[in-house]
Amino acid sequence: MDLDAIGHNVGILRERTRSAHLMAVVKGNAYGHGLLETARTALAAGADWLGTAQLSEALALRRAGITAPILAWLYLATTSGGAMAEAVGNDVDISLGSPAQLEVVAGIASGLGRTAFIHLELDSGLSRGGARREDWPALVAAARAAELSGSVTVRGVWTHLAWADVPAHPANTAAVAEFEEAVREAFDAGLAPTLRHVASSANILARPEFHFDMVRAGLAMYGLSPAEHMDPADYGLRPALSVTAPVVLVKHVPAGTGVSYEHRAITHESRYLGLIPLGYADGIPKGISGSSVVMVGGQRVPVIGKVCMDQFMVDLGHETSVRVGETALLFGDPAAGAASADDWGAAINSHGDEVINRIAPRLQRVYTHGR
Ligand SMILES: *Cc1c(COP(=O)(O)O)cnc(C)c1O
Repeated sequence: MDLDAIGHNVGILRERTRSAHLMAVVKGNAYGHGLLETARTALAAGADWLGTAQLSEALALRRAGITAPILAWLYLATTSGGAMAEAVGNDVDISLGSPAQLEVVAGIASGLGRTAFIHLELDSGLSRGGARREDWPALVAAARAAELSGSVTVRGVWTHLAWADVPAHPANTAAVAEFEEAVREAFDAGLAPTLRHVASSANILARPEFHFDMVRAGLAMYGLSPAEHMDPADYGLRPALSVTAPVVLVKHVPAGTGVSYEHRAITHESRYLGLIPLGYADGIPKGISGSSVVMVGGQRVPVIGKVCMDQFMVDLGHETSVRVGETALLFGDPAAGAASADDWGAAINSHGDEVINRIAPRLQRVYTHGR
């Protein structure tokens, strides 16, 4: 994990937006990159907010001594919720999308004798979190009443676009117009949110008119493609994560040898096989079999046969100079000749985000400055 790449990418994103604030989204253990290391690096490089889905991730950041503002947006609101009390007690901003959630958060804040900082979420079409347009007036009215009682302060109003990964889609323009209406309604109700935020990576790069007061960066900060046909390299973004493993065995097999379970691959001539000690328990997708994505001995070689739970084989060719102990680069920076996580994603009919997020916790993370 190249921390310099995260810092570099944050710098690029900072330059591309005129919005006052940049949130580094570090949910999911920072997309598998490591929560604390990523958060600290992003803050040092110019991000000034952190975003997590779960309260537990926000609390882990606080426990590690990180004092930057944090927004968490996914939780079960229950009055007995110890995590919510800890979050409110530790200045974690909470996203809200319903009067029922508001009641719980306001009640917990009152009980603590504190004010909870909240961000109201509009459902502008994703049908995920947030209040639908027709339910918005009731939410802002309830939020204003709670503000007057001193239990909450509405710091933000935000939405996440259904077509976030298709910047040019006309539905985005309509959703943002709806968002602006909802913001006006919030002000009309007496609220004074200082943070309006809408854009995630693809729209940070492609739709400056969606930036408002803050942008929320995930994929682009990690140097991955945020949308189809958007190459991170075109924006000067570098992938931070590489996955490597040693070749643990090299063996010669004759023509006609079945390889891995059910002999899904059979050698057509004598081959050298390399054994890589990573498998689907480590997050290597089974669908990668047959793709030439592994860089070893200076070239790309195919995964041969079924991926097993802890190991898979690569086809090193009819002749090979690869020796036991040599490093295989599974994915990483294309500038270093590696397949990218996005290449892996394309090979399994998915996207790089699924590949990096599945890399298992049991893989040791090594943090470097530079490749
Ligand atoms: C994950 C997420 C983001 C970041 O999206 P990227 O496309 O990775 O930049 C931003 N906002 C919300 C609400 C998210 O859930």
